[in-house]
Amino acid sequence: MSRNTTRLSDDIKLSFEFFPPKSDEMAGQLWSAVDALKRWNPDFVSVTYGAGGSTRDTTLATVARMTTDAGLPAASHLTCVGATREEVLETVDAFRAVGVRHFVALRGDPQGGVGTDYRPHPGGYANGAELTAGLSALGGLEISVSAYPEKHPESADTNADIEMLKRKADNGATRALTQFFFDNDVFARYLDRVRAAGIEIPIVPGILPVHNLAQVQRFAALCGATVPAFVETALGPVDDQPEERSLRAAELAARQLEGLRRLGIREFHFYTMNRASLINAVLDQAGFADCDAPAAVQAA
Ligand code: FAD
Repeated sequence: MSRNTTRLSDDIKLSFEFFPPKSDEMAGQLWSAVDALKRWNPDFVSVTYGAGGSTRDTTLATVARMTTDAGLPAASHLTCVGATREEVLETVDAFRAVGVRHFVALRGDPQGGVGTDYRPHPGGYANGAELTAGLSALGGLEISVSAYPEKHPESADTNADIEMLKRKADNGATRALTQFFFDNDVFARYLDRVRAAGIEIPIVPGILPVHNLAQVQRFAALCGATVPAFVETALGPVDDQPEERSLRAAELAARQLEGLRRLGIREFHFYTMNRASLINAVLDQAGFADCDAPAAVQAA
């Protein structure tokens, strides 16, 4: 089977994050988004995992189909909150049985919800660094982890966050995917501190093109990210005009990518929200397609 792919400029690598669908209608939306984003020949795609294992079966089915039907290198997110080590490793075995070899290793939010106290399971992995060590010990797995340019809300300070990231890297993580952010200066400062701490793994910025400003503001407040005034000024006044809103959202994200590229960043992780059109517009506008090559080449 052949499919059209867009050749990316220089050595750019893209990854796309999806969430498992909760209904047939959502499944339709997911698979058409996956199909439409294939053209970018992603380095990998990933599927989120409900904290406490709430989406275990749908995540597993989705990742398996990404690999087998869609033919994409797929990673599964994995959280360890509320589970014993044995339970986590049983889950890992189930994913390995369908061919998954790449995990995004996460602690997960507290079981009482964001903002409540986190209590590690007495027989479990206490955090992302311990889970990374557990996965590394199995051998043969690629392990990505989370990173927080604006600090995780539970962290005492940025140093604590960076220490945790260092432990993850020391325990075998090969890349960190960041929480979304909009201000590239925040990312640049964070990257400086990460490198000064001797962490050498790629820190891949998480890019969230804004479909819905109010939703992003709510989510940002929960996860400690900032929605700067320039984003609100650009998108707020056109919130009820879907076409203009999409144009502006694409332009904002495209400019963010261009800025990150000027900082030397070559890997980008997209929070897709299971939709393709805005991401396609962003990548087209940011000029990520190789202009010297035919726009579409046939790939096996
Ligand atoms: P860790 O890396 O273990 O900790 C994050 C920070 O919090 C650390 O730097 C540390 O300083 C601090 N910290 C951790 N534990 C404590 C503690 N007990 N006391 C004080 N400080 C502490 N969630 C999902 O449920 N499913 C997903 O699929 C998912 N995917 C994600 C993908 C990415 C790229 C990112 C950035 C986040 C994702 N999340 C997901 C959200 C994530 O689960 C939450 O942010 C969670 O609260 C922390 O998980 P973690 O692995 O980042 O934690």
